[in-house]
Amino acid sequence: MKKHNFSAGPCILPQEVFEKASHAVLDFNNSGLSILEISHRSEAFVSVIEEARALSLELLGLQNKGYQALFLHGGASMQFLMVAYNLLQKKAAYTNTGTWSSKAIKEAKMFGEVVEVASSKDKNFNYIPKNYQIPEDADYFHCTSNNTIYGTQMKSFPETSAPLVCDMSSDILSRTLDFSKFDLIYAGAQKNMGPAGVTLAVVKEDILGRVERQIPSMMDYKVHIDKDSMFNTPSVFAIYTSLLNLRWLKNKGGISGIEAQNNAKAELLYTEIDRNSLFKGFAEKEDRSNMNPTFNLAEGADKATFDKLWKEANINGLNGHRSVGGYRASMYNALPIESVQVLVDVMQHFEKIS
Ligand code: PMP
Repeated sequence: MKKHNFSAGPCILPQEVFEKASHAVLDFNNSGLSILEISHRSEAFVSVIEEARALSLELLGLQNKGYQALFLHGGASMQFLMVAYNLLQKKAAYTNTGTWSSKAIKEAKMFGEVVEVASSKDKNFNYIPKNYQIPEDADYFHCTSNNTIYGTQMKSFPETSAPLVCDMSSDILSRTLDFSKFDLIYAGAQKNMGPAGVTLAVVKEDILGRVERQIPSMMDYKVHIDKDSMFNTPSVFAIYTSLLNLRWLKNKGGISGIEAQNNAKAELLYTEIDRNSLFKGFAEKEDRSNMNPTFNLAEGADKATFDKLWKEANINGLNGHRSVGGYRASMYNALPIESVQVLVDVMQHFEKIS
């Protein structure tokens, strides 16, 4: 039986995506060939990657605005250094909102000065810092829109004259934003985009070419743009599966269509976390993530009983990250609200028998 999958990533994708992807492994578009055995230079695959690049920009509302969508290797973690390699000449500004921001800062420091303009480390990253100053002479400002581990999410983004760079790994394609405010967006695919193994980078071309250093080809956004995201062999299967997922999202009404469902799921779970005295939310209310609600058991609540109940209810992936403990219910685009209702029912049953 299919589980209610609250895994933080890799995570649930739509069932129809799993089915179509598995069919393509056996016979891709009735070609008599598996998607795993075709050339990445074949017409069939070139049309896949071109559609995936165009559809990414279309869903983000960024077509014909000077942006290029790239499907790269190396995960969001490689973007931590690729961003700095390509953009950091002297000084960059970063907010530190958790483990992933800290890792991005660590990589950037190898390329120049990093000004940490704000941090929420003082409270184990359970909130989003606000009202900070970004130096006007920063080469760029980097932030993390959704902090997967802590369950916090930026609800607004600072106004700055510096190019705006954002790690959207765990909330890309989940909510409407004015994406044209951003100059570079990146996201490991393995949450709302598709399977692990590919990373989306959406780059505004006019921010490139401003650093003096030599950039190795694989690290150079310009090289990937000039080669239509095919400088070397791309992650063929991961890109195809991402395309299936992007098509699914378009059929759902795009980002605004899925956002309404994501809001309803978040409302359902957070209402229960706040109502049920056996649970306590981890993140500050105003900064709560719609993707990764985090919560703990209240003092005296029996962990063994709760764990037994949710596992019996066919729920998967509810344990919190080891650095926070407690629970994390990741609710990416493909998770149906019915699964959230199952979790809420378990929480209410736990209350009844405690
Ligand atoms: N940034 C964020 C916000 C993440 O959630 C993750 C992974 N969960 C990463 C970066 C690192 O991604 P990757 O494993 O693709 O390098």
